[in-house]
Parts: sequence; structure tokens; C-alpha cells
Amino acid sequence: MSIIKTLKSNFMEKFIDLKIKTVFMVLFCFMTLFGVVGCGITENMSDSEIQAAATNKETFNKDGVLRVNYIDVGQADSILIQSPNGRNMLIDAGETKDKAVIDYLNSRNVKKLDVIVATHPHEDHISEMAEVVKNFDVGEFYMPKKQHTTKTFEKMVDAVLSKNITVNEAKAGISINFDENIKCDIIAPCGSDYDNLNNWSAVIKLSYGNTSFIFTGDAEDISEKEIIGSGVDIKADVLKVGHHGSHSSTTKSFLEKIAPKYAVISAAKVNDYGHPHKETISLLNDFGVKIFGTYDCGNIVAVSNGQDIEFNIGSEAEKDKAEDKNTPDLDDVPKLNQQYIGNKNSKKFHLSDCLSLPSEKNRVLFNSRQEALEQGYSACSKCNP
Ligand SMILES: [Zn+2]
Ligand SMILES: [Zn+2]
Repeated sequence: MSIIKTLKSNFMEKFIDLKIKTVFMVLFCFMTLFGVVGCGITENMSDSEIQAAATNKETFNKDGVLRVNYIDVGQADSILIQSPNGRNMLIDAGETKDKAVIDYLNSRNVKKLDVIVATHPHEDHISEMAEVVKNFDVGEFYMPKKQHTTKTFEKMVDAVLSKNITVNEAKAGISINFDENIKCDIIAPCGSDYDNLNNWSAVIKLSYGNTSFIFTGDAEDISEKEIIGSGVDIKADVLKVGHHGSHSSTTKSFLEKIAPKYAVISAAKVNDYGHPHKETISLLNDFGVKIFGTYDCGNIVAVSNGQDIEFNIGSEAEKDKAEDKNTPDLDDVPKLNQQYIGNKNSKKFHLSDCLSLPSEKNRVLFNSRQEALEQGYSACSKCNP
């Protein structure tokens, strides 16, 4: 038995309670019988003693900005959070071709991921995680106490174990020690038994100064109800919409409690699930939430100075990546209301510097890409807005 396997057995003894263990053993025997290779085994996760430092307004660093990078990884999730003090947290490393997450991290000059959270073991959240762990220094690793039987899950666990990285259980009530001026709490999973892997998703609320963000993984209605029931304050400015905008998440009562100004949806333009579902979009619209989708915008970067949040999208986010993270200035961040110019006749829309702009009289202005698309306009293939 290899060291890793031995380690994994030891971890399993400590970590998995008897009930889960029994189920696991039955599954293991079943899979062995049918020749399925190995089972994912979760590492020892002692309850974290770490307490996040509460946001201290007296020492608030007014020069610093927090950057939340919603990386365009297609029908998947991956979010890089960069603190004003240069610390990095990665939530998920979703399904991707061409190492999109690693490339993005490199382009942001990330050397160390101080915190990694694997929200839940679905492929579209952990596909690139083993490679990420292998390629970067990693501080702490958080994951829910839920294993999965895929090779991807096993590879991720192997990568984490082989680097002796501290693994903590992601569950409601745990605070992540991310950065001294940032409060980062795990608010779900609240329970310990779910039929649907999505409800195992680690849900995180992060606050910096007066601004706050919620990251939901794929948590669905059951988990949302439990979060509300737990009484934790979930009011936040930016909601990473659960489960790629599926109607299985983002219940009305959850949205009411969060009352976000902005919503970010991570999904591919074309996907098998019809994400984001139109019910979710209409609900967000009903609540007056401004929606950014990676399917429209590509990479989306939310920048907070602790007071205000601005969004940097698509090609602007590419430019943003090249900036030194210590010299950002909110004045340099492109404004939300970049206008797009539609052609009433061709029903195409353009960037304002496109060479194929229609004549003045045939122009219609849109405040967002989303707005243009919703009104039936399609993107110009030259300026690719
Ligand atoms: Zn997912
Ligand atoms: Zn999922």
C-alpha cells in the first residue's frame, strides 16, 4: 500500500463517521466487484480553530482594493479573490479545457493561494483543482465532508495530501482567516446529510469594509432554506448566483434576504441545461439586480475599495489582469455604463469605437451587452462587443 493510500486510510478513520463509513464501505465493495477504480477519500478535517479577524474600520486600508475575479471557465465555476494585502483565495477550479484557471492565475501573477475552497466535488467545480494544487503554493484547503467516487476527486485529494496541505472542513459556522481586514465566513452546508451533492456546497460570505459578497457554489433551495433558518446575516452587495443560474437555486426568500445590487452568473453561452434559467433571470430583474454573466462578459472582475464596488468585464478585465495588483485605482476601472451602439436596421450592436458603426439616425444605445441581447440585437463580428 502506498504512503498516500495509507495516509488516506488513516484520514478516513478519523474523519468519516461510522454511518458514512459504512455506506462508503458498501459502496467500495460494490465498486470493487464491478471493477470501478478506487474511491475518493476525504482527508482528516479537524474543526478549524481559526477565527477571522473582524473588519476593523479604524485600520481600514483606504488605498487597498479587493478584487473578485469571476473567471470565465464555461459551464463551471472558478473565482479568484485577491485581498488588498496581496493574499489570494480560490473558490473552485471548474471544468475547463486548456488550463483556463492556471492561465488566469499566472496572468494575475499569483504565486501562492493562501486559501482554496472546493465548494463540492462536482466536475465543473474541481476539474482543474489537482493541477492548481500541484502548480501553486497552497496555504489552507477547505472542502465539505463529502467524498465523491470520481477520478477527478481522487486526483484532487492525492494532490492535496502529497503536498501536506492543511485541510479543513467547510461547514456553516467556520470562519476563514483570509486577510486581517476581511471577514470571511462559511455559512453552509448547515446539515450533514444531503441526497444532492449540490447542497453540500460550501457557501461563503465575505465582507470588506461596507461591501460584501456571497459565493454559493451550486447550493440549491434546501441549503438556501437552511441558511435562512440559521439566522445568519446574508445581506450582500454581490451574489454569485447558485448553480449557474438554475431555477433549482435562488429562491425568492433567499434573494430577498440577500438583497444584492449585483448578480454574477457563471455559465457557458451554450450549455446542456439551459442555464441560466429564465425564471432566475426574471426574478433577479424583478428585484432590480444588475446581472453579469460570464457567458456574455467573459471574465468579470468586481473591484471593491471597501465602500463601493465597480465591475470590470470582458476585454477590460483582460487589461485589468495586466495591471500591478498593488497599483489599482478605482478611477481607472472602466465604468459600468459603457455604452453599446445598435444598428436599428441590421439589429447588430457594436462597441463605440467599431469601424462599422451605423449612421446617427439608425443608432440605438444600450447600457449593457445584456440589454442589447435582450432586445434581440446580436454582437458585431468585427468589434466583438
Ligand atoms: Zn456546478
Ligand atoms: Zn454541482
